[in-house]
Amino acid sequence: MQTTAESSARAEEILRKLPRIEGVIPMYVNGRWTLAKDGDTRELINPSDGRPIAVVADGGAADAEAAIAGARRAFDDGPWGRISAADRAALLFRVADAIDANRDEFMRIDTLNNGKPLRETEYDAIDAANCFRYYAGLATKPHGQTFDVPAPSQTFTVREPIGVCGQIVPWNYPLLMATWKLAPALAAGNVCVLKPAELTPLSTIRLAMIFEELEFPPGVVNVVMGAGATAGHAIAASVLVDKIAFTGGTTTGRSIMQAATANLKKISLELGGKSPNVVFADADFDTAVDYALFGIFANAGQVCSAGSRLIVERSLHDRLVERVVERARKIRVGDGFDPETEMGPIISPVHRERVEGYIESGLTDGAKLLCGGERLGGELAEGNFIAPTVFDRTSPKMRIVQEEIFGPVLVVQTFDDEAESIALANDTIYGLAGAVFTQDIAKAHRVVRKMRAGITWINTYHPTYNEAPWGGYKQSGIGRELGTYGYDAYTEVKQINVNLDVEPSGWFSG
Ligand code: NAD
Repeated sequence: MQTTAESSARAEEILRKLPRIEGVIPMYVNGRWTLAKDGDTRELINPSDGRPIAVVADGGAADAEAAIAGARRAFDDGPWGRISAADRAALLFRVADAIDANRDEFMRIDTLNNGKPLRETEYDAIDAANCFRYYAGLATKPHGQTFDVPAPSQTFTVREPIGVCGQIVPWNYPLLMATWKLAPALAAGNVCVLKPAELTPLSTIRLAMIFEELEFPPGVVNVVMGAGATAGHAIAASVLVDKIAFTGGTTTGRSIMQAATANLKKISLELGGKSPNVVFADADFDTAVDYALFGIFANAGQVCSAGSRLIVERSLHDRLVERVVERARKIRVGDGFDPETEMGPIISPVHRERVEGYIESGLTDGAKLLCGGERLGGELAEGNFIAPTVFDRTSPKMRIVQEEIFGPVLVVQTFDDEAESIALANDTIYGLAGAVFTQDIAKAHRVVRKMRAGITWINTYHPTYNEAPWGGYKQSGIGRELGTYGYDAYTEVKQINVNLDVEPSGWFSG
């Protein structure tokens, strides 16, 4: 087994294979590698040790506009529109195979750039390949319907691509979020202008190399790097973009929705969450404890669907919370390249301070801190590490209960009966996910049916399937990704009517 240093050195060696122009990792626009028009660059930092790892092009509005213009030409006049669904599928299967063949590179790039442990980035890389494979399969499946309308007509629908799709993604699953956007859009015949998060663009650049190697026509896939307020806003506002698909924070989602009104573009939003994990006293104890930990501390809590509120039946509260805290203290936090590491760092110093601000507010509001709450020092001092944190004795109006922290902070709430568990579960502006743990299957069904959330789990937390829809109720989003829903979201529906009795209607007499 490699040591942490060897493993990290291997990642840096992989980075050296990425394209460079004058030492800078460029964007992929209209089939060419290019620097930002104004020459701006951004230094990327390893969140585990604060060291610089690469310098990338930092695009702005002009770069986004160039990519959009290229995508527009590719959609309106390029060969992509003449490629059959079967050939598009074949290309996407090859993308999946190429991700698999280079899995080690994708894993290590994301661990270096995002900090999450290798076992998580391995899972992401496997899932990304499978997502391309799933949508490659879906490209050739039937998507239209026929309708029994009054004779003599025959009416049916076809699904057609929407056109130029702007896609903006966050930093918490760099490769996977890019894949969730690109795979269904391309399968349905669209062209894409994708903007990765400015902190974590590297695995998306590695992915763009695959599109280049497989000779996707120029302009079909564009990767624009840059800040949200400039490059991202230009994509959301452009009248040449037909659809915007965004994953990120709810506040950003709101401003993207406003920008998208310029040409009333189609919109999909996958936003934040404050998801409830409801545990009844009759739950299988060890399973409930295990998933309570996994729900919040996987990816250091930087997961939109994190089980950040543990809602426990009062009679089980003391025993469950004691065990959760005991195990939370034992979580091995560290560099993602260390094979022992179970939880990595927070993405950036700025975000760490945001999480610490929430911890501070929990203390000020009178919640009881049971473990964590502090930065980790020693050999982790240069990275953005926060210890797994659990707050108890919370009340529903506290900020730590209502707002998305997006870090390794679990808040415990307590209920006395089923009705109260549901009321607490639904008591935030969010509605992304939720789970219930009980051995009473009827109760489990009753509770999840009453949760105002788009993704629910019974006796598990977090499983996500390419085959099943993903998205939120309330302020957690608009629309669904993944599954057939995710494919449909990248299509327009066209009704086609055929008159089977071709003769004049005689409506006007003259
Ligand atoms: P963020 O909203 O700050 O940024 C996300 C992306 O939007 C980045 O690429 C950023 O550059 C871009 N952006 C920022 N401002 C913009 C603007 N004005 N116009 C256009 N683009 C803009 O979010 P983040 O901090 O990167 O990610 C964390 C958030 O993402 C959390 O709230 C989390 O819940 C959410 N998220 C949701 C899902 C989901 O599926 N629902 C998945 C992952 C993350």
